[in-house]
Amino acid sequence: MPELPEVETTRRGIRGAMRTHRVTGMVLREPRLRWPVDPALVRELPGQQVLDVRRRAKYLLIELERGTLVAHLGMSGSLRVLSPATPLLTHDHYDLLLDSGRCLRFNDPRRFGCLLWVTGDPAEHPLLAGLGPEPLEPGFDTDYLAARARGRKVAIKPFLMDQRVVVGVGNIYASEALFRAGINPRRAAGRMTRPQFERLVQAVQAVLGEAIRQGGTTLRDYVNAEGTPGYFRQKLYVYERAGEPCRQCGAAIRQVVLGQRSTYFCPRCQK
Ligand SMILES: [Zn+2]
Repeated sequence: MPELPEVETTRRGIRGAMRTHRVTGMVLREPRLRWPVDPALVRELPGQQVLDVRRRAKYLLIELERGTLVAHLGMSGSLRVLSPATPLLTHDHYDLLLDSGRCLRFNDPRRFGCLLWVTGDPAEHPLLAGLGPEPLEPGFDTDYLAARARGRKVAIKPFLMDQRVVVGVGNIYASEALFRAGINPRRAAGRMTRPQFERLVQAVQAVLGEAIRQGGTTLRDYVNAEGTPGYFRQKLYVYERAGEPCRQCGAAIRQVVLGQRSTYFCPRCQK
């Protein structure tokens, strides 16, 4: 599933090809995504200029003159900029045609992605309104995380993956950040020490930052905006390494289930 680094990689990949260009048309082949795509967009979008392509959590915000397209990649989606003449694949659901002669094409075999048109402030849309801060922006720091965790009995790993606490820290990155911070994923969030929160904030930012620089994680069929796979996978310390030796101490990596998600950690390095 595309996680925050993959979405950010996609944003960077499509922004340059879209910004300042005008939409000249839309081809909607399959409106039945997670929520139906409004067929009126085929008439609404042409003529509008793309002002910017931003990101909030795992949503891409394509800002046009009269509103914002809110796009999500779902479980298996990808957005690519290519020639409209590029032969269609089975799950190519829409094209946004641009005055540059190229198009933004969305492919999504499982159709959990979405494309919504929002005319007000997208930050107030129900999908975005309750979200916590961005992990790589100033609102996410030691004071914030410690305050949110106070009194909480939930384990630190599901706490960190709660989108109301901080957005975009998926299963891979939560596991990897906790390893780097030396924190056992089963520790109660409210029982963490201040130095642990400090290390965790730094580790989350380092892990996500590295993944973005390297173009996202190679997992299953993910490809970035140019269609090339990312290559973060070989740098993983614990994720999907159950039974293999810890890269730091040699102990066998353990797998447990926390909050219904597989969790990997080193019993010796993570306290
Ligand atoms: Zn270890």
